[in-house]
Amino acid sequence: MAVSSKALPPGSTIGILGGGQLGRMFALAAARLGYKTHVYCPEVGCPTSQVTDQATFKDYNDDKALAVFADSVDVVTYEFENIPDAAVELLNAKRPVRPNAEVLHTSQDRMFEKQLFLDLGLKTAPFANINVLSDLEQAVEQIGLPAILKTRRFGYDGKGQVKITQSDQVPQAFDDMAGAAAILEGFVSFDTEISVLVAQSPAGEQSLFPVAENVHRNHILDVTTVPASASVMVVDQALDAAKKIASALKLEGLLAVEMFVTADDQVIINEIAPRPHNSGHWSMDGCQTDQFEQAVRAVCNLPLGDTSIITPTKMKNLIGDEVDDWATYLAEPNAKLHLYGKTESRPGRKMGHVNYLLPKKG
Ligand code: AMP
Repeated sequence: MAVSSKALPPGSTIGILGGGQLGRMFALAAARLGYKTHVYCPEVGCPTSQVTDQATFKDYNDDKALAVFADSVDVVTYEFENIPDAAVELLNAKRPVRPNAEVLHTSQDRMFEKQLFLDLGLKTAPFANINVLSDLEQAVEQIGLPAILKTRRFGYDGKGQVKITQSDQVPQAFDDMAGAAAILEGFVSFDTEISVLVAQSPAGEQSLFPVAENVHRNHILDVTTVPASASVMVVDQALDAAKKIASALKLEGLLAVEMFVTADDQVIINEIAPRPHNSGHWSMDGCQTDQFEQAVRAVCNLPLGDTSIITPTKMKNLIGDEVDDWATYLAEPNAKLHLYGKTESRPGRKMGHVNYLLPKKG
């Protein structure tokens, strides 16, 4: 696809909301293509700010700081979903926010996400909206057990979730939500978990990454392997679902779709994230265009890059003190180490990842 006259040219400044590792790797990819970056986040010295041209360390509800930030950039993107609506509205009045506010709004709330999947004819776990204890009691009757109670908003890496296996756990599970709006989801006894990244540019070009297979440990992604071992039927369903979601949301940027695969090859959509995703880190070494560059291209309305696999790749997250073994990973042939510049390692904290380049089959 030719470069659109509405493309944001290299030399422009991309604003990034959020200062974690995703923003950091996005900023590095942006720099490679000649863009400047300005990160906005509350945490002084965050991983993203270590590699950007400018940083603003302010709260997301600081209207004055947000306005100054908006004036200093040409486009705004984000590396996490939990940005207050008011901040997005304020920024959007001054600069394009990509992916757009509707995508963000949908992805912030599990109920809106699930409704979207159903509207598009996609399969998702049975669910019910939970506000009061009697909603939960009824939902348990309807959906059955085991089931998972999840907060509608602000959950990640298994936080804000309780598995219910017996009905006598219902009152405690409800109390654990601490008054937050929640949904009850039927438990999917899946064989594997997969994800698909889809990019779409404002010019309307769409591009899919190969299906990734994910293994979680303690609710946190541990290993991603590409290509996935999934059947052709599963791959087709997964790619089709991602395409439909990106089109329906008029995506401008990158979006991840997380899915479960059952023993009979059904693809059940779990959730979406309109940003680079941990399960796409393999692409930094194993793919012609990595997910961060693709996000930069999509946000700046450039032609999208080729997403062919260079070689099969296994990504291993370095969580907590696993990062202490960095020298071992450096010494391994075919291992590519990526560290996030976090000074303190805590249990469950993502400190870096390693991409293992695997031999080509055949
Ligand atoms: P989530 O925050 O929704 O991505 O959930 C984190 C992880 O919990 C998923 O990757 C699954 O391993 C597991 N999980 C979440 N929802 C379900 C479900 N409905 N059935 C079975 N496992 C689930």
